[in-house]
Amino acid sequence: MPARTADEPNDCSRPPNTWHQQSGAAAQSIQNCGGEQYFRRLVEITSDWIWAVDADGVYTYASPKVKDLLGYEPEEIVGKKPFDLMPPDEAQRVAALFRDLTRTQEPFLRLENTNLHKDGRRVVLETSGMPVFDADGTFLGYQGVDRDITKPKQDEAELKRTMANLEQSNQDLQQFAYSASHDLQEPLRMLSSYLQLLDQRYGEGLDEQARDLISLCMRSARWMQRLIEDLLAYAHVGSRGKQFEPFDSGAVVDQVLGDLQAAIQSNHAEVTHDDLPNITADPVLMAHLFQNLIGNAIKFHGDQPSRVQISATESADEWVFAVRDNGIGIDPKNIDRIFVIFERLHSREEYPGTGLGLAICKRIVQRHGGRIWCESTPGTGTTFFFSIPKQPVSP
Ligand code: ADP
Repeated sequence: MPARTADEPNDCSRPPNTWHQQSGAAAQSIQNCGGEQYFRRLVEITSDWIWAVDADGVYTYASPKVKDLLGYEPEEIVGKKPFDLMPPDEAQRVAALFRDLTRTQEPFLRLENTNLHKDGRRVVLETSGMPVFDADGTFLGYQGVDRDITKPKQDEAELKRTMANLEQSNQDLQQFAYSASHDLQEPLRMLSSYLQLLDQRYGEGLDEQARDLISLCMRSARWMQRLIEDLLAYAHVGSRGKQFEPFDSGAVVDQVLGDLQAAIQSNHAEVTHDDLPNITADPVLMAHLFQNLIGNAIKFHGDQPSRVQISATESADEWVFAVRDNGIGIDPKNIDRIFVIFERLHSREEYPGTGLGLAICKRIVQRHGGRIWCESTPGTGTTFFFSIPKQPVSP
């Protein structure tokens, strides 16, 4: 729309193009054409309902938009009080607020209130108002604006319900996984003991095929035991309370390397780490995380003995740790799969494992509000990165 100049005819349907034109000639022009008429037009086209009440809270003006918001014509509103349009309990609450406001005569912003549409529907409005005074400073009432926030409020309530349901089913699932794996341990222990007994007492009298079968059963029982232990560890990450505390991550890595001594020695691996920072996290979970990543780095070695290096870099709000190895690497097309529970890229005969290690790592990192990812070149090596916020976040 071309800018209007003071020379053009006064056309009140055409506001100035920009705010700064209100100064000088254009502003003068608005006043000439009847500023009130111009602002009345604005009031009528805005998507909010504009209103005025007197000092007793009686509507003296309602813009036509009220019809869209509450179903009433402006004439039906004038003479009523805001509380006449509300359910009784809400009317009581807002009337008390209004009494306070008329005493303090202060502006108010975004006061949420529930109203009844003419058709009986509940409509949530957000009301803001400014006090009006005459030239002598006598309080005349309020002018203000109402916005319909029914839909955003419904969306918000729906989101809260969904979050609560999700939280509940997550807890149920957690509890289920924990109890199921816990309760499975006992019969499994019995099974292993009876198999052992069978082997000890009657092994001599059995033929080779029968003894092989017993030994296969015992291997399966041991395998099941590992699966249950890993499932318990996975469930444990979610059920564990937030026990965040400051500690030296280098000391935790040293302790993990001590626990991994047997694997390090048997694989002739060399594991080193830079100076690692003090962080605030759950030390038990962090030890588990390092143990899984370093354990994998040693396990998935190529022809060369494993060389594993652990480092950390600092950014404004987080630490990013890296566990780098020179192992077999991972085909980039499989990288998304490896963090999924029970996903493995190799058979158990090639590399033993349950496929839960990285899923546990991901859970631990997420519990701290961080991210985990990996970069790899097949045949050359893999680096796993994970971030831990300096201020741990609620999961
Ligand atoms: P698991 O070690 O029990 O197989 P994980 O969840 O720890 O289970 O790992 C999933 C898969 O990701 C592994 O089976 C392996 O294929 C791949 N992987 C994990 N870490 C490495 C690594 N450092 N180098 C190469 N492959 C890896």
